[in-house]
Amino acid sequence: MRVHKIAAIPADGIGTEVIAAGLEVLEVLSKRDGGFKLDVELLPWSSEYYLKHGHYIPEGGLEKLKTFDAIFFGAVGSQDVPDHVSLWGLRLPIAQGFDQYANVRPARVLPGVKSPLKNGEDIDWVIVRENSEGEYAGHGGRAHRGLPIETATETAIFTRAGVERIHRFAFELARSRPAKHLTLVTKSNAQRFGMVMWDEMFYEVAAEYPDVKTDRELVDAVTTRMVLKPKTLDVVVATNLHADILSDLAAALSGSLGIAPTANLNPERIFPSMFEPIHGSAFDITGKGIANPIATFWTAAMMLEHLGETSAARVLMQAVEHATASGVHTPDLGGEATTAQVTKAVSDYIKASQA
Ligand code: ATP
Repeated sequence: MRVHKIAAIPADGIGTEVIAAGLEVLEVLSKRDGGFKLDVELLPWSSEYYLKHGHYIPEGGLEKLKTFDAIFFGAVGSQDVPDHVSLWGLRLPIAQGFDQYANVRPARVLPGVKSPLKNGEDIDWVIVRENSEGEYAGHGGRAHRGLPIETATETAIFTRAGVERIHRFAFELARSRPAKHLTLVTKSNAQRFGMVMWDEMFYEVAAEYPDVKTDRELVDAVTTRMVLKPKTLDVVVATNLHADILSDLAAALSGSLGIAPTANLNPERIFPSMFEPIHGSAFDITGKGIANPIATFWTAAMMLEHLGETSAARVLMQAVEHATASGVHTPDLGGEATTAQVTKAVSDYIKASQA
């Protein structure tokens, strides 16, 4: 029996609802498969925990987290804690501390889901987001607070090592897909240091991948291309900030933020990787039982794939597509189904499918 140690961190808002649904479906999958078991430990790190203890991650928490095979993460963000405190208190220390530099964000329109685009079925993208430096490197400071000369700096950091490895990762991913096409997203017309190096290193790495077709697009222009010519994109590599924004757009164009998954990968597997839906804690629907769990299920499939459980990952995606195709949709997709009903539809399909 293959045993995978999973740290589940539901954290805040609908994170607790969708991770509970994800764990339920994973349990059904593991029973059906019979060949693997998930040894899950629920970690209570959240904004509530922060307000009680003064920290999100307790002393020794990251060390403990290192012993897991993967992290299954919900969402962090609370109305009682400033966003920059919660993000830097929980998600970023894990992503940066574990060198999860490759953030992979697939987007496609699942069967039965309506895209706001008339040619939404053309969306089949993977956005590769640099996840360790760039605009979110945390480099900067504030001085003269409250005075007219108050100053704040926020410096984007681009290193040769950081830029080269994310481009190489994106080329490898592009090479593995049928279209073998990689688009470099940049802003090197206006930002002439970091972004120019970002471009130069892309073409240095490109020389090693003659079989991958490339093109280059400014970040502002790529938004219009996503909307007007979705078929012309395949894999996209972008900086931490740019890809953060583009992947929310990609999620909305594929039908809803509630279906979009992400993997924060440490490709060398020195540290555990982290899998999470891209959406946040969504206070407007928290506690109503209507959060869409599909993003979390898709995320769980990416986690299974990473753990080498490819057949279970495939079954899970089939179950997800069966549920969306049969119209079991939560309100964000225009339906009336609850989180529990979608979870049941996916679980029932898994149970009914042959092992
Ligand atoms: P945060 O500040 O934690 O990023 P947020 O509420 O500002 O959270 P998101 O949660 O990412 O932002 O999403 C914005 C809106 O999209 C939500 O308020 C909600 O209405 C909708 N949404 C996001 N995720 C889901 C989901 N899984 N199911 C249904 N609706 C969702």
